[in-house]
Amino acid sequence: MVKDTPRTRILIIYTGGTIGMIENPETRVLQPFDFTHLIDNVPKIKMLNFDIDNIQFDPPIDSSNMDPSHWSEIARAIENNYDAYDGFVILHGTDTMAYTASALSFMLENLNKPVIITGSQLPIGEVRTDGEENLITALQVAAERTSSGEAMVQEVAILFENHLIRGNRSSKVSADNFNAFLSNNYPDLARVGLDIIYDEDSLARDSSNRPLMVHDVMDPNVMFIVLHPGMTSSTLEYLLNTPGIKGVVLKTYGAGNSPSGEWFTGPIAKAIERGVVILNVTQCVNGAVNSSLYDTGNTLARAGVISGHDITSEAAITKMMYLFGKGMSNKQVEKYLQRNICGEMTINKS
Ligand code: ASP
Repeated sequence: MVKDTPRTRILIIYTGGTIGMIENPETRVLQPFDFTHLIDNVPKIKMLNFDIDNIQFDPPIDSSNMDPSHWSEIARAIENNYDAYDGFVILHGTDTMAYTASALSFMLENLNKPVIITGSQLPIGEVRTDGEENLITALQVAAERTSSGEAMVQEVAILFENHLIRGNRSSKVSADNFNAFLSNNYPDLARVGLDIIYDEDSLARDSSNRPLMVHDVMDPNVMFIVLHPGMTSSTLEYLLNTPGIKGVVLKTYGAGNSPSGEWFTGPIAKAIERGVVILNVTQCVNGAVNSSLYDTGNTLARAGVISGHDITSEAAITKMMYLFGKGMSNKQVEKYLQRNICGEMTINKS
């Protein structure tokens, strides 16, 4: 007797974003709308040969309003439905999608099922929408199996237009191009064209077989300090003395360089002595921090600033939130910032 293979089951988690928005007839601005409206605009979904269920944020939100409590809500939804589904598709606004993708990659430990995040630049009700294609492709990616029958993607990834990219390597690079997301320091997980061509060497594999563990506490007492010529010492001191601040992602120039004068290095060193953790991340969209290249970068390393190597800003800030959220001391946070936890950075020798 031929055994029936069970149908693939995918859960869509609709959080909001342009993909599901419609224009308010009075104000003419786009506002999030409910999932029924969204799915009614994708009749092709019925042609997919798998079972699809959905849950939605109530109310759906513009992703500019996303915060760590929403990330916890998504992570818990995945945890509560983990055994019942083969894969998850998260519909999300594009503005903070790279932050959510990075945050979830840390929050979902031992993930071995696909969590594919997508959205669109034009609402799904628009004639030229990119939302329909992105949604259908995300569902296909979430359902894809390898020749040995395991999930093709076993990590958090963003599917957008022609790219499937690792969530914690992604950045939004365009406010109006359909190809809005790129992974600047890591190969695409798949190229999406006529076919979806997976790069199996780049895909994460968790062979530990440990059960999914969700970490849903993120500590928001972290911040970016972005360097620019003309920054004053009073601005710098003010920011470093922000009440309650535990971690700073310092967005430096080029290969991790900063001004070398005492006005700059002094307050940085003092903040580190007070216990603030400072991570050096380059402002460049591509490449890595290399503190041994120039004296200006080396000064920071000597003061105790940690190298973020080629980590994105989005992954850096959410990694800090995650580590402090686990209740770690500043020394422990410094230790784990120097380690690659889930494919978010490539460690060089700097
Ligand atoms: N403001 C929207 C959002 O992030 C933009 C989008 O979805 O493209 O929710």
